[in-house]
Amino acid sequence: MKPTTQAEEDALRTIREIQDLISTIEKLRTETEIIDRLIHDLNQGYAPKEQDLKPLDLTPQPLTLLKLRLRGIQETKKAALFEHESKFRDKKELLEDIMRCPVCRGHGITMKRVYDRSDGRITTIAKTEICCQCGGTGRREMSDYIKDLMRLLPIN
Ligand SMILES: [Zn+2]
Repeated sequence: MKPTTQAEEDALRTIREIQDLISTIEKLRTETEIIDRLIHDLNQGYAPKEQDLKPLDLTPQPLTLLKLRLRGIQETKKAALFEHESKFRDKKELLEDIMRCPVCRGHGITMKRVYDRSDGRITTIAKTEICCQCGGTGRREMSDYIKDLMRLLPIN
């Protein structure tokens, strides 16, 4: 499915970036959980199994050394997690901005100045109207394909 407008192209690219960020964040969360458990086990005096160390590129080694290595890896993973979560929030905001109706900026209503002569003088008054672009939804018109992708994003 090809995007047909600039907004759809931007939305599609941002959705893909968010999908990538979500899978990286999930991976980092799992890894930090595993490392937390390994450090906990080490503190209890249990040597970790080789199969638990392999995904972290670690080989069995003296426990004190292993604990130091794990703490170092954990720090790096947590910093990466923090960075990706912050990028995720930025992209989420960007996507919300892209999806907003460009005419009413998401309010669903527009203000219109009209002339009023009811009291003999001409005055202007502000009248609100349902936005003619989005019909009051505040959302930008997007293809069903993009709307489906949006629904599948676990961001709400
Ligand atoms: Zn609108």
